[in-house]
Amino acid sequence: MSEFDYDLVVLGAGSGGLATAKRAASYGARVAVVEQGRVGGTCVIRGCVPKKLMVYAAEFAHLANDAGGYGWNFGAASHDWLRFVESRDREVAGLESTHERLLAESGVQLLRGTAVLRGAQHVDVEGRLLSTRYVLIATGGRPRVPSIEGAHHAISSDEVFELRRRPDHLTIVGGGYIACEFASVFAAMGSQVHLVLRGDLPLRGFDDDVRRELDAALRACGVDVRCRTVVRAIRPGAAGAVLDLESADGPGELQAGQCLLYAIGRRPNTDGLGLEEVGVKLDQGGHVVCGEDGVTAVPNVFAVGDVTARAALTPVAIQAGRLLADRVFGGRTGAAMSYQNVPTAVFTDPPIGTVGLTEEEARAGFGADAIRVYKARFRPMLHSLTGRVSFTLVKLVVKADDERVLGCHMIGKDAPEIIQGFAVAVRMGATKRDFDDTVGIHPSSAEEFVTLR
Ligand code: FAD
Ligand code: NDP
Repeated sequence: MSEFDYDLVVLGAGSGGLATAKRAASYGARVAVVEQGRVGGTCVIRGCVPKKLMVYAAEFAHLANDAGGYGWNFGAASHDWLRFVESRDREVAGLESTHERLLAESGVQLLRGTAVLRGAQHVDVEGRLLSTRYVLIATGGRPRVPSIEGAHHAISSDEVFELRRRPDHLTIVGGGYIACEFASVFAAMGSQVHLVLRGDLPLRGFDDDVRRELDAALRACGVDVRCRTVVRAIRPGAAGAVLDLESADGPGELQAGQCLLYAIGRRPNTDGLGLEEVGVKLDQGGHVVCGEDGVTAVPNVFAVGDVTARAALTPVAIQAGRLLADRVFGGRTGAAMSYQNVPTAVFTDPPIGTVGLTEEEARAGFGADAIRVYKARFRPMLHSLTGRVSFTLVKLVVKADDERVLGCHMIGKDAPEIIQGFAVAVRMGATKRDFDDTVGIHPSSAEEFVTLR
């Protein structure tokens, strides 16, 4: 008879929590997951999944146009937003049920309620005290809200999924993943979109060539991109919110339209969890401080996913959680999460796929003379008949002495699908010669990566 109710109590049934719980249970651990909201967390309920369905919905807008170049006539296209939203939400609800069923089939107990730590081996779920050998913090994050006057006029990505009508005219503040993805989606669906960002270009941290290409592509889709622009205050106006702006041109104002979306990053869900009281350290942003192995300052308390300060991506949370369970419950002591060469995609139009170092990072790390850059920019074959002005850029960043590929970047149709494969090669240490020696697939955009000179 164990001295604990559970071997592992997981706080949060999102991507990281679910993956860790099921993997731990597969080794025979007695596991409970505590969830205060819907099972599936950010990715399934208000992130990757409903967002990607919106990206697909937007892509059809182009298909109707593009098909004309290939002789198709569909007549006047129209879109039923509410019908789409209801289908999307049914799909999300179905996935939520699937996750609940999979948890039950794995032998993991799902407890509904808000969890708080009471000591390193006790978790309080709304008055019910559980004892546990290990605790996993997988409480994720939530949208950061602006701290300026009139902030209550803005919505976050959470509320975008609740829009029952597509705004004809909207403003998005921010220049990261979420802002750029929704700018693309709404522009393709026919909305007038203003994108207000404080940096020189969207997507800080991505390769500058890719960022410039995205900036041009957003403008080509009709998005009013306003770089180096800061919102000072938000006021109510006759036709929606009015933004007081500050840019290089001086002060100005902008009619936000029917919707003002702020996408300025996310905050970790650590408030009120009782973490610091038990000795778990938090950084200045409130993220749980832990090693790459997920172990916090308290040896039996672990953390994975967005609640840590590492790449806030679903596959990262899942992989970190599974490897943690492998080590702690599966005896795979060497199973270690690597945060090097994590591939990522931005589902803009066109989309971006990237893995490894940007040119700027490689220059800073190795010196400008120690790297070589190969790139090609072209109009994809698809658009030879559609008339659409859309470019693809592929780029390799290579270490000059041993020809190792340090970074692989693409913006263009299917970039996320293409880069996933190249991420394996980069992770294995492939060289430019390996790329050159690989036979291309023709005709494709991907073959450009193996024919770069
Ligand atoms: P979460 O999925 O956020 O789960 C945390 C769970 O903990 C939540 O269900 C929450 O209710 C629960 N919880 C919090 N506090 C408590 C408590 N005290 N007690 C009980 N339960 C609690 N990533 C990608 O890889 N690809 C994408 O395309 C992508 N698109 C995204 C689009 C949007 C709009 C957003 C917002 C995010 C997107 N992400 C994407 C990021 C991805 O969703 C997250 O990285 C991922 O969901 C993190 O998983 P997690 O387990 O750390 O946290
Ligand atoms: P990001 O971190 O991607 O971007 C935040 C943006 O907000 C940046 O452009 C930043 O500007 C700007 N910003 C920050 N603070 C302010 C402020 N006070 N005023 C104005 N602008 C500000 O965050 P997101 O919210 O877009 O997304 C959160 C995370 O979710 C992402 O980092 C990603 O990890 C994940 N995600 C992944 C997706 C995918 O995999 N496809 C899709 C969506 C989200 P600056 O650069 O100047 O700091």
